[in-house]
Amino acid sequence: MAYSQEVQIATATVQAAARLCEAVRQDLVPQAMEKLDRSPVTIADYGAQAIICEALSTAFPDDPVVGEEDAKDLRQDEYAEQLAQVAQYVQATTSSMVHPDQVLTWIDHGNGKVCDRYWTLDPIDGTKGFLRGDQYAVALALVEKGDLKVGLLACPALTLDDQTGWLFTAVRGQGASRQPLAGGDPQPISVNTDPAQLRFVESVEASHGHGSLQSAVAQAVGISRDPVRMDSQAKYAAVASGQAALYLRLPSPKTPDYREKIWDHAAGTLVVEEAGGTVTDMHGQPLDFSKSAKLNENQGVVVSNGAIHAATLAALAQ
Ligand code: AMP
Ligand code: MG
Repeated sequence: MAYSQEVQIATATVQAAARLCEAVRQDLVPQAMEKLDRSPVTIADYGAQAIICEALSTAFPDDPVVGEEDAKDLRQDEYAEQLAQVAQYVQATTSSMVHPDQVLTWIDHGNGKVCDRYWTLDPIDGTKGFLRGDQYAVALALVEKGDLKVGLLACPALTLDDQTGWLFTAVRGQGASRQPLAGGDPQPISVNTDPAQLRFVESVEASHGHGSLQSAVAQAVGISRDPVRMDSQAKYAAVASGQAALYLRLPSPKTPDYREKIWDHAAGTLVVEEAGGTVTDMHGQPLDFSKSAKLNENQGVVVSNGAIHAATLAALAQ
């Protein structure tokens, strides 16, 4: 099957990264460091990026990784203790010796640029959810000539059918599946188009969307129930596995010029598309993963079960 080696390597390393994140969450009340843009980052973000970049650089040395994090702050003397902690957690995932300098190099392997074939990685999507004890995701996707080919989403805190912790995998043309992170076989997933069960999801962070407009649009397409609020691309998993029919992410009136990042959407988009759903921006344009780390040509994101997509875009156009 096409991309079987990519899926095999990516699956193993995303599972390992998810275990690292859960270990950090269990061992310590995770502490946030602040990045230059004031967004939070934790030792788990760095540890997960290090593990995944190490695995990808070994298996696919020619593929750049466009990741959310870089090691600039961690290289500062004032963060020596955090670096040592990151190295310890990475060490726990492997039998070979891990030196802090190697960890920095692996993290910075994620400074790649968008090109013909690249991976994009959000080691912890929804860091705020991770810190709060809510949803987060480890998100990894392979992009070729702008087309999503492989997408993986680990959602360690997501409960479906009484089981918590799922890995979602999609390969272009081969469908989407879910498997328990605790172990178990992949099962195919598909979106839910039952008009009697319509729900919509949106971000927990009010500043990452436009709550009142999102509610108005949802109502216009026949969704009367209150939204489910979730951090991270777990929202894409909710649509792909039929828990929700719609995920709306409309530009916040406070940050109308915000441009979405490719690692916040690539993996989730393929998982939803391969589960039978549709993903576009708010104007109906496909998300453009061919140009840069930002989706400069797109505004907002609309994710649906497919059946209500046209009606959603029509409501938005009004
Ligand atoms: P979520 O958990 O769905 O709110 O998504 C978290 C992601 O929102 C983070 O990874 C950020 O990259 C992204 N983000 C940060 N600021 C904004 C903003 N003003 N509008 C939309 N997304 C944002
Ligand atoms: Mg993110």
